[in-house]
Amino acid sequence: MEPLNVNQVLSLIAATLILLLIISFFWSKARTSKKRISPQKYIEALKALVAGDDNLAFVKLREAVLEDTDNIDAYLKLGDLLRKRNKGDKALEIHRQLSLRPNLDSVTKYDIQTSLALDYISLGHGDKGVSLLEELLKEDKGNLGLSERLLEEYEKNNEWEKAFEIKKQILKHKQEKDDGVLAYYKVLEGNHKAEQGEYHQARLAFKEALHYDETCVPAYIYLGDAYYLDRRLDEAVDFWKKLIAVKPDAGYLVFERLEKTLFEKGKFQDMAEIYRNILKENPKDVKTMYALASIYEKKGNVKAAIEAMTDVLEIDADFYPAMKDLINLYRHNGQTDKALRISQQVVECIPSKYENYTCSNCNYLSSEPVWLCPQCRKVNSFNI
Ligand SMILES: [Zn+2]
Repeated sequence: MEPLNVNQVLSLIAATLILLLIISFFWSKARTSKKRISPQKYIEALKALVAGDDNLAFVKLREAVLEDTDNIDAYLKLGDLLRKRNKGDKALEIHRQLSLRPNLDSVTKYDIQTSLALDYISLGHGDKGVSLLEELLKEDKGNLGLSERLLEEYEKNNEWEKAFEIKKQILKHKQEKDDGVLAYYKVLEGNHKAEQGEYHQARLAFKEALHYDETCVPAYIYLGDAYYLDRRLDEAVDFWKKLIAVKPDAGYLVFERLEKTLFEKGKFQDMAEIYRNILKENPKDVKTMYALASIYEKKGNVKAAIEAMTDVLEIDADFYPAMKDLINLYRHNGQTDKALRISQQVVECIPSKYENYTCSNCNYLSSEPVWLCPQCRKVNSFNI
């Protein structure tokens, strides 16, 4: 083959230049034509989302993706709204299709995976969703939104050890310190283990709770319970007594347990002493006064019981349990007029005031003291 002459080289260069010009012309045209797609619908959708108008956002997002099928974010949000509308299967389908698109940047891929995880959870495939969220969190350890979402799942699934760890991380990232709440997670872990009969493991968790917060009331209560269930009554009594020492105003929560256990040990007489000691520190503690009065009643010492119950009502005229007992005591003592007078008072007071614990988050009423709301699943919302 002969070498090319100067003219041939020049015309080749010219041809190449022309070709490049044509390519760049079409490319820029393609770009401008793409730019010509108005983002108006998408912007309106975003505004509606910010304003909380999901219905309008849904309409606008659909319009946006019809105009521009490359608007990945609009598709992503459309899927999320479908999930919110309990159409998890449709959301999953959209997000799955998105994940198959080529040339996705890493941030978009991450967002799509997050939406997929939430779709799985909404469809009842919690395991799949949670393990996907865990993978994503490994990639972006400081992601608070993901951490909080995972915490919610762990709480829902009674995975308290994991909940504890992630809560610790969340607090660290927020640079907050709340050992009290960490203690509650340990208590819930212990409760879950005790429910499965693993009392030793449960006790370890309760003790860890006390390590985080030595005033953690339920840790003492349930620690005693876990010893009691293993028939280690002395240790049970010790921890309940410790609660009274550490938090006297929450002591009433273990009165019944202490009375029962001391009775089984043949040491019921110690109970009156425990109550008197509390009253030495806090003479107007009505719950303790009432408990002591009840002991007189149980022992058949009607006169002392009436006197002590009357003392209770002098401090708190609406103390329903004392009213109820006093009515019975007066009746048995033949003082029906006095019994009747107290009965009239009972009608006027609201007994539920002393029988219910209210969730500060959702107003759920519980007759038992609880540290995890059965309705809204908020931890420590009963202010006990
Ligand atoms: Zn609640």
